[in-house]
Amino acid sequence: MDRLERRLLSRLARASQDYGLIEPGDRIMVAVSGGKDSYVMLHLLQEVQRRVAFDVELIAVHLDQHQPGFDSGVVEAFLAARDVPYRIVREDTYSVVVEETRPGKAYCSLCSRLRRGILYTTAVDLGCTKIALGHHRDDSIETLMLNLFYSGQLKAMPPRLTSDDGRNVVIRPLIGCAEADIAALATQLGFPVQPCTVCSRQPDLKRARVKALLDELHAENDKVRGNVFAALSNVKPSHLLDPQLRELAGVEALTGAEEALLEVEGVGAGCA
Ligand code: SF4
Repeated sequence: MDRLERRLLSRLARASQDYGLIEPGDRIMVAVSGGKDSYVMLHLLQEVQRRVAFDVELIAVHLDQHQPGFDSGVVEAFLAARDVPYRIVREDTYSVVVEETRPGKAYCSLCSRLRRGILYTTAVDLGCTKIALGHHRDDSIETLMLNLFYSGQLKAMPPRLTSDDGRNVVIRPLIGCAEADIAALATQLGFPVQPCTVCSRQPDLKRARVKALLDELHAENDKVRGNVFAALSNVKPSHLLDPQLRELAGVEALTGAEEALLEVEGVGAGCA
């Protein structure tokens, strides 16, 4: 195992420890879309399965959504060649999405809701304790910024989430892994990556703008993405305005001296 793979594996192990992602007796349904992220996630989870001292089952599931130009046979051949049980689920969500989406609107939002529903049901059918999705650090950062700029909410992607009806637990084992590292490992291991043929024809302008902004900031300072991600684990409820959060954190008004200690050097708010 080389440095890149070790780095990704240690980030995954760290996330698992911090958020209880992989636990003894788990039967984890690994959602494999055919993109680089889910291939790498399956690969790393199989490494973890080989190394941990407790029993964990993995079942790979690929949902064939009947998207034109996407060859699910490639994904099935990949899964068949790995030492993992798998299931291919076939549902024509593509036709539903095309029919139901208003002209000019992006397909992703309805498509992902339908995908999610089918994956949740499949996990229950398979008796799985958790569903692993391949979202990574950069997805989390972009989601944070999209929510901040366009929906007035301060939230990213949860590493572990119980569905509203309590039937499913979703985990994101790659949450601490950088997309560039994942892409490099997928290339290095020769995984048969196929991008989604639907959304690649439908540019998500807001996400593209956020990506471009991050790229621009990264060109000036390559720590920007890491810093935004670190901020998600370094929240100061006293410096936010959510009354519930402040109450939960037992926040009382700070003294001037305490406030000065929390100031970030060089980031002044200006004269007020
Ligand atoms: S990326 Fe493709 S498969 Fe995923 S939600 Fe968007 S349109 Fe659907």
